[in-house]
Amino acid sequence: MAPKKTVGILGGGQLGRMLTHPAALLGIPLLILDKGGYTPAKQTLLAPPGTTHPDGAFTSEEHIRELAKTCDVLTVEIEHVNADVLAAVVNEGLCDVQPSPATIRLIQDKYIQKEHLAAAGIPVAPFKALTNPSTDDVRDLAATLGLPMMLKARTLAYDGRGNAPLKSTDDKAISDALAFLGDRPLYAEGWAPFVKEVAVMVVRNTAGEVRSYDAVETVHRDSILRVCSAPLRADGAAMRGVNVRARQLAERAVATLDGAGVFGVEMFLLPDGSLLLNEIAPRPHNSGHHTIEACNTSQYENHLRAILALPLGDTSLRVPAAAMVNVLGVDGNMGPVEQMADDALAVPGATVHLYGKAESRKARKMGHITVTGSSDAEVQSRVRTLLSQQPDLDQ
Ligand code: ATP
Ligand code: MG
Ligand code: MG
Repeated sequence: MAPKKTVGILGGGQLGRMLTHPAALLGIPLLILDKGGYTPAKQTLLAPPGTTHPDGAFTSEEHIRELAKTCDVLTVEIEHVNADVLAAVVNEGLCDVQPSPATIRLIQDKYIQKEHLAAAGIPVAPFKALTNPSTDDVRDLAATLGLPMMLKARTLAYDGRGNAPLKSTDDKAISDALAFLGDRPLYAEGWAPFVKEVAVMVVRNTAGEVRSYDAVETVHRDSILRVCSAPLRADGAAMRGVNVRARQLAERAVATLDGAGVFGVEMFLLPDGSLLLNEIAPRPHNSGHHTIEACNTSQYENHLRAILALPLGDTSLRVPAAAMVNVLGVDGNMGPVEQMADDALAVPGATVHLYGKAESRKARKMGHITVTGSSDAEVQSRVRTLLSQQPDLDQ
């Protein structure tokens, strides 16, 4: 067997942690760059002999360059990294970076990402730039895009923390939304009147082989993912073939981007059965956590295979139905999170994942629970039990 290449991961959170599990099985040496010695990902896999997981920001030029010297390929578990340094690392021949720094840079700015997708003929909600907006600028835009309208931060957005839905054009509603978004570059999107949200994980290896996973239904509250169910169920004539259509659209969107790895493609399913693309993540994704228990090859294993020029694994479901429920934190108190995890152990078909985060904060992703079952009805009944055990985020 060829000597295993060393992989460097920028970011040491839960997605990195779940990459360490297949890395251990496949014997792939990993180094994780993040601040702190005991991040979720660093807890689960030792650094190769003679090395330590670097302690620094995943945006730090010095740390990324140092990591590049020790690794054969760098990848990311978060897109908010330093794309310029990653591009320099490739240009200088220090090591490979997957997916490509250009893809990571493009995705980092949601407005540029939307422009790119629209130019490639991928359907997206109407959107407009908003540079240094005044209340009047926002009001003018609402007259074009309609209400409700979603104001979004172009950069550094995650878990809806860069989203402010605008339901009225009162001065106060607009100034509250702008104050929430703060000093970031913004843009606005027309509201997508979706019946469901859908996600598809797509994986492409360095040889250009592409596979997608079955589409899943994602349920968000306050712009944060709560529950993800597979396979996607959508009734009615308009919804015919929606799984295949969602996979095709996701594959078509990913085909416009360079580089290898897993891509999480988020979409809106409209009442007429058509799909709009919301955004793409250039990495494993929360909507693919269930693939660990529910698919023949998880998104995490396939991500490693993809960036290491290995054959891709079978993406198909190996259970009739599955779902994932996020375990969200409450401020400063780990008790409710631990209680939910303990309670879930009594739910048949449930697998508990806790991320080992030191501190609980409101709506922080502290863990998740995957549940599998012999039918959609059985899984959804188990999901209801899990949701009834969730911490109250408003306490
Ligand atoms: P993530 O954690 O997935 O990276 P994010 O912070 O980048 O999220 P988005 O994916 O843009 O944010 O939006 C989060 C959620 O907000 C969506 O999944 C959807 O529920 C809602 N949302 C976003 N844009 C729109 C829109 N144009 N119309 C209706 N709902 C929207
Ligand atoms: Mg996002
Ligand atoms: Mg999103």
